[in-house]
Amino acid sequence: MLFDLNSPISYLKGVGPKRAQMFADAGIFSVDDFLEYWPFRYEDRTFFQKIDSLELGEPALIRCHVESLQRKTTSRKGISILTVKVSDESGFLLLKFFNQSYLSRIFRKGQSLTVYGVPRLDGYSTLISMTGPECEILDGSEKIEVHTGRIVPVYRRIGNMGTRVLRQLLFSLLSDLSDRVRDQLPLDLLLKFNFPDLRTALWEVHFPKVPSGTSSLSYLKRLEGRLTSSHQRLIFEEFFFFNLALQTAKVRNKMISKKRVINSSKEIEKSIRSIFPFQMTKAQQRVFKEIAGDLCGRKRMNRLLQGDVGSGKTVVALQAMMLVMENGYQTVLMVPTEVLAEQHYESIDRYLSGTTYRLGFLSGSVKRKQRSETLDRLLLGEIDLLVGTHSLIQESVQFKNLGFVVIDEQHRFGVAHRARLMQKGNSPETLVMTATPIPRSMALTCYGDLDLSKIDEMPPGRHPVRTIRRDTKSRDEVYDIIAGELKKGRQAFVVYPIVEESEKVDLQSAVTMAVHLQNRVFPSYEVGLIHGRLAPIERMNVMQRFQKRELHILVATTVIEVGVDVPNATVMVIENAERFGLSQLHQLRGRVGRGDFAGLCVLLSDRHHSAESEERLKIICDTQDGFKIAEKDLEIRGSGQFAGTSQTGAAGFSLG
Ligand code: ADP
Ligand code: MG
Repeated sequence: MLFDLNSPISYLKGVGPKRAQMFADAGIFSVDDFLEYWPFRYEDRTFFQKIDSLELGEPALIRCHVESLQRKTTSRKGISILTVKVSDESGFLLLKFFNQSYLSRIFRKGQSLTVYGVPRLDGYSTLISMTGPECEILDGSEKIEVHTGRIVPVYRRIGNMGTRVLRQLLFSLLSDLSDRVRDQLPLDLLLKFNFPDLRTALWEVHFPKVPSGTSSLSYLKRLEGRLTSSHQRLIFEEFFFFNLALQTAKVRNKMISKKRVINSSKEIEKSIRSIFPFQMTKAQQRVFKEIAGDLCGRKRMNRLLQGDVGSGKTVVALQAMMLVMENGYQTVLMVPTEVLAEQHYESIDRYLSGTTYRLGFLSGSVKRKQRSETLDRLLLGEIDLLVGTHSLIQESVQFKNLGFVVIDEQHRFGVAHRARLMQKGNSPETLVMTATPIPRSMALTCYGDLDLSKIDEMPPGRHPVRTIRRDTKSRDEVYDIIAGELKKGRQAFVVYPIVEESEKVDLQSAVTMAVHLQNRVFPSYEVGLIHGRLAPIERMNVMQRFQKRELHILVATTVIEVGVDVPNATVMVIENAERFGLSQLHQLRGRVGRGDFAGLCVLLSDRHHSAESEERLKIICDTQDGFKIAEKDLEIRGSGQFAGTSQTGAAGFSLG
């Protein structure tokens, strides 16, 4: 079967309903979306080294067999170490894995592996070892040309699909791509810049071939710098169409006077304010005025609302939604994660309990029956305010008269997603909210015709989160701090980073830690665990138990990063803090001290790492202002990296 660019991802062989859902959660719906899932790096597997020729400290790729496995647990700290002895014709090598005992069920004597890691001598053995290397088990069935003997692409994990599965899927997808796939770039442009056609470019970026006369090393550099003509073509294309869309939108915005009529009045605004048990800050009042001005004006609103975590953006957005609903239109709040959607739904439900507005909820985990009921009600106009995740983008979701779309934490969404949502209403008013400060010039470049509002003031009584740093050796002191808070009836977060390439390792350490904390350190309290791999329903369940104070400590991977609101949580411990970015750390600590009590954030990390991460940790301890932090972030990372992974959506370019 041959694919078109817009064939649904579920047409792919090997993609059943489960995987299709994982793709959907990652914002991948069609073949086209998947093809734009670019490798985040490449690995030179054209050349396997022999064990006896490894150089210490130099990353190397080898092909080997498993000789034996050994598991040990250190008595004092309870860390488990798995040592896998491997060999090739030239010698032996040890692979070491910490706290990943499940791996002992995966490796088997006699397996062939490709291993990529850094050889070291650790003093415990005369053999060279690699700690936590990247391994692929070869079961003989894989097409060699996909995974080895070439420069291979490495992809970030999607759901439970690792780089290998994705690589295989992409390879067969590309092989089965119809050759009638239309190249959107005009031929004269291709000729002018000497660009390859679309199919060739896609093949080359995913499965590059080293041109003859070039060394694989120097080609690898070109690939990683995205400098090949295939990369350049795809980047050009992104900017080209982005610009085109921008210009078109500008022209259209100028030409179309909107048909929607939204009116406000003193009474309406007063009744809107009356549902909130607190006074709006000056900044909130100002921003609401700006938004209401747009809504009631003649031009369609397209506004970006920036404000630090907890500054009250959502509250303002809700006021604006009420104004629109009061005028008879439907509204939508779209958020990036399931946990967050659920939370927003509940808090909005609470705020609106005394009103007649009808709420709806949609996400990937809503059961079919309830889902179709919600969809019917939406179409009939029986829902005024819908809260949901990515799944709102799906075609089956249709409104009677959608008038206003609010997108929270939009840096998780790409331009394409927003565009799809926009098509649902008759060009609805749009408000995009973000806690990631984007410099004005950058925002204007990215969004073109976009107005900016900023909440630059915190609600009263908000205490800055005191942030301190501790070495992992002072763990006991940190546990004492947690214990002190728990005794006062407060709650705590312990956060683990997930770095996608080694997600399994990180996840395992979070799991291990949760068990350890429960059994050894806090036996008389309840410890819960939440991470991205839990089913949404379980995730919600854990979150609710934490909110209801049935759990006292929540061990979490960064799924809590966005928007979790538990006012009773006062302390957050961040493990391996050096592995987080500045903005991420700032967002994370914004989760504590949201209630009446001051918050404390403890950054745990060892002393030996890069000067850059040292500086990050220092800045985060010294600075509370989210905008300053974002500036520093930019300084440290350099603008070249600004559109890195976490920002891709903000800029809206997947490759460019
Ligand atoms: P953001 O979306 O910017 O993170 P929220 O709108 O979710 O912020 O508000 C964070 C918390 O502060 C919520 O619990 C909200 O009820 C509360 N809040 C918002 N505005 C005010 C205000 N003016 N006074 C007191 N509390 C407020
Ligand atoms: Mg928020």
